Amino acid sequence: MRLSDRVALVTGGGRGIGAAVARSLASEGARVAVASRTLTEIDEVASELTRTGSQAVAVQCDVGRPEEIASAVAHVSEELGRVDILINNAGIASSASLSSQSLQEWERIFRVNVTGTFLCTQACLPGMLERGWGRVVNVASVAALGGAKYISAYSASKHAVLGFTRCVALEAASRGVTVNSVCPGYVDTDLTRASVARIMEKTGMNEGQAVQVLCKTNPQNRLLTSEEVAHAVLVLCLPESAGINGQALVLDGGGFVG
Ligand code: NDP
Repeated sequence: MRLSDRVALVTGGGRGIGAAVARSLASEGARVAVASRTLTEIDEVASELTRTGSQAVAVQCDVGRPEEIASAVAHVSEELGRVDILINNAGIASSASLSSQSLQEWERIFRVNVTGTFLCTQACLPGMLERGWGRVVNVASVAALGGAKYISAYSASKHAVLGFTRCVALEAASRGVTVNSVCPGYVDTDLTRASVARIMEKTGMNEGQAVQVLCKTNPQNRLLTSEEVAHAVLVLCLPESAGINGQALVLDGGGFVG
């Protein structure tokens, strides 16, 4: 129970990686606020945590909207005391060639992935700095470290998350707060299932073949599980990880060549 006196806010905590992160932080004793736009999903995760003996709340919030973030953080502080650990996990993806990339979709992706990470961090960091302890983990991607065809908006947004991570890590370095990123390859979640559907639609492949295209990007020839990503996030949040700051922890089975 290495996080028993800590309060965590997990954005995008209603399903996929975020739900696994919420479970994993709770398993170390953290009180957890689970945030996203879909109330039924965050209610379900928070109820599950409560049933299994943790203190948890669901907080409906769109990370692209500053006023919703402010009221979400205020609500978490009222219910659970404060925010010591922020996991910026909420994220969206889509694919398009550059010539067909719309400005509207570009801005939608940046609003959630980049601006959402900025706004949530700006709302939670001052309290962490005042108290002299905090952890921020940004869920970036291997797309933060290199390029691939048809994901310029997503990849640029995740590069931005990584740059943001490194800068804020330096601002917080002397104050007991660490700021890191995790960079997973393809994970078996709804987001990846949407990518599989797009590959099937564009290429005529069947589902198995489309999944295999994504598996091949990992030398272990598989998709990661949400629990594996959650484990990496948990490690960065532990008290013993105080010296790890401004890093990008890559989970891709050994595939990234930087
Ligand atoms: P999912 O689509 O399964 O879950 C995304 C979560 O983010 C949902 O809870 C969703 O809830 C929430 N979310 C989306 N938009 C907003 C918003 N505007 N405000 C608040 N919450 C929002 O995706 P994953 O679990 O796969 O992805 C989680 C993170 O991991 C993302 O940042 C993604 O980019 C990153 N990632 C994923 C990889 C993968 O292969 N799956 C690989 C590398 C990184 P709701 O829609 O209800 O708001």
